[in-house]
Amino acid sequence: MSAAVSYERVRDQLATLGLDAALTSLDPVLARGQQDAKVAVEVLDELLGLELAARFERRIATNRKLAGLPTLKTLESFDFAAQPEIPKPTVDELATLRFLHQGENVLLLGPCGVGKTHLATGLALTALARGHRIYFLTLHDLVTKSRAARDRNRLGLFMQTLLRPALLILDEIGYQPLERADATCLFELVNKRYQMQKSIILTSNKSFGQWDEIFPDTALATALLDRLLHRATTITIRGESYRLRHRRQAGLAGPPLNAGGTHPAA
Ligand code: ADP
Ligand code: MG
Repeated sequence: MSAAVSYERVRDQLATLGLDAALTSLDPVLARGQQDAKVAVEVLDELLGLELAARFERRIATNRKLAGLPTLKTLESFDFAAQPEIPKPTVDELATLRFLHQGENVLLLGPCGVGKTHLATGLALTALARGHRIYFLTLHDLVTKSRAARDRNRLGLFMQTLLRPALLILDEIGYQPLERADATCLFELVNKRYQMQKSIILTSNKSFGQWDEIFPDTALATALLDRLLHRATTITIRGESYRLRHRRQAGLAGPPLNAGGTHPAA
């Protein structure tokens, strides 16, 4: 068979197999192969490599769309100097994603504005960039969506979407107390992911000791914490709100709030 016929057939076969990136790159790859006197296997290697790279990019783009991230804050844009309570080596270690491969959890605790969601999002983006599926939702989302799913008899299906991703981010636990059905749903989610050895990143403005206030009974709070903390990295941030501090440094806000959340008496 002549080379011209083979060329046509290769194009058709790539198209039939849906290897679109390889098809697009065929001409330049063949030209480079000829120019650099590459052997056939090198040319094939480059062509297939380009197809796989393009597929990986597509997968990342799809995963990003499905992730439900509220912002795209990265770990690189996190100012560790501004938040000395957060140990950078610990975050660097988390960024290796070993925790994800080992099914460990990450718990980020601290008051409003100290960077919990930023860190969670940064880790999520790191995981996405390496091809993992993630899903982000606030506890409020979880409550609303699981109630809606229950009403439509589709709770099982909704739970599946929360069990499938390699990483689940549950943001803002503790801002509202949970009714029993919602607390049970949260427990089942955490328990199932624990059994599947799949990671959760959880953020809360409440210390573990205060979790009793969120749950309808202590036994449920204890059982949940037991699963969450069994294999987990906890980062507790006690600092001041990042934005507030910047505003104060710019002379736009008063002194820092005291522990009770009020301004100290002048
Ligand atoms: P939290 O979730 O703890 O309430 P956020 O992560 O939403 O706080 O942070 C509030 C805002 O301040 C966000 O815009 C975030 O990007 C920014 N921020 C907080 N801490 C830092 C930091 N150390 N470096 C850079 N930006 C920060
Ligand atoms: Mg937050």
